[in-house]
Amino acid sequence: MIAGGNAVRVELRYLLNYFKSPSILILRGEEERVNIVVCIKQVPGTTQVRINPDTGTLIRDGVEAVVNPFDEYAVEEALRIKEKSGGVVKVITMGPPQAETALRSAIAMGADEGILVTDRLFAGSDTWATSYTLSCAIRSLGGIDLIICGKQAIDGDTAQVGPGVAEMLDIPFVAWVRKVEEITSTAIRVERMMEEGYDVIETPLPCLISVVKDINTPRMASLKGKMRAKTAPIVKLDAAALPVQSDRLGLKGSPTQVLRSFVPEKKSGGEKISGDAADLVAKIKSTILDLEIIK
Ligand SMILES: Cc1cc2nc3c(=O)[nH]c(=O)nc-3n(C[C@H](O)[C@H](O)[C@H](O)COP(=O)(O)OP(=O)(O)OC[C@H]3O[C@@H](n4cnc5c(N)ncnc54)[C@H](O)[C@@H]3O)c2cc1C
Repeated sequence: MIAGGNAVRVELRYLLNYFKSPSILILRGEEERVNIVVCIKQVPGTTQVRINPDTGTLIRDGVEAVVNPFDEYAVEEALRIKEKSGGVVKVITMGPPQAETALRSAIAMGADEGILVTDRLFAGSDTWATSYTLSCAIRSLGGIDLIICGKQAIDGDTAQVGPGVAEMLDIPFVAWVRKVEEITSTAIRVERMMEEGYDVIETPLPCLISVVKDINTPRMASLKGKMRAKTAPIVKLDAAALPVQSDRLGLKGSPTQVLRSFVPEKKSGGEKISGDAADLVAKIKSTILDLEIIK
């Protein structure tokens, strides 16, 4: 359980062709329950994000907001763990009041509780301030064994918030998890996707993992789930409700500043030349001379 940050860090790397050991999942009723919080972000439901050239901020008007797709895999994995070992699945988001709809989508999938971390003081947070605020909110929940994030958000795209939260909670972090092999109330063994093959990593709980889309197929919300999500109470946490240092919040508490955001100008396709080798050499040579690259 997260209770202040003295978690022991253990990371074991095994061979790529890891030979599966006997299950470490020994269910002993209540003792093996795993309490999970899933971090979800509301993002524009398009990759064609437009930026206001005057303010440098995203143009959100008229753009549908959705749950970050990678976070749906995180919710699904949490629900699968709960179905095996019991426990509670909470979903948390930091964002404007309308981010509540993202929480309700996750509740419709089966999450037990939604927590909205929202305050004008959080506006303009960079990834550091976002990680700080989220970590304070998660610590305030108490009794969390496992935190699951998506690999990255499709708008900000930095993949920094997961490791940032883990660092601030002083717990182990495993990125790019493609499979949860085993989990007990004290340890988890996962496969981490690598460019070639995968690593098998075992680490004590509490810990934070970020998941890739190979891990599962997110379920559709059931009708019952949708009905429950409509009326489920959402816990709202503002700055006053959290043990936060106000100088670490929002734009003022953000160590990075966006000086300029812009959409790169489209470049023309260039000139294509064709012919046999001798032709090509001659054309390239005359082009270089014409452009006075070499005199
Ligand atoms: C100087 C600065 C100012 C900014 N100002 C604003 C602003 O005014 N408004 C604005 O919308 N953005 C703002 N941003 C962007 C904002 O910092 C990022 O969107 C945010 O920190 C998350 O980073 P990311 O999108 O790269 O997420 P990633 O790090 O790529 O996300 C990885 C995972 O972390 C979790 N996660 C990420 N963000 C959240 C969240 N908010 N709640 C819960 N879980 C989350 C999800 O599981 C996600 O899959 C600003 C950034 C900078 C640098």
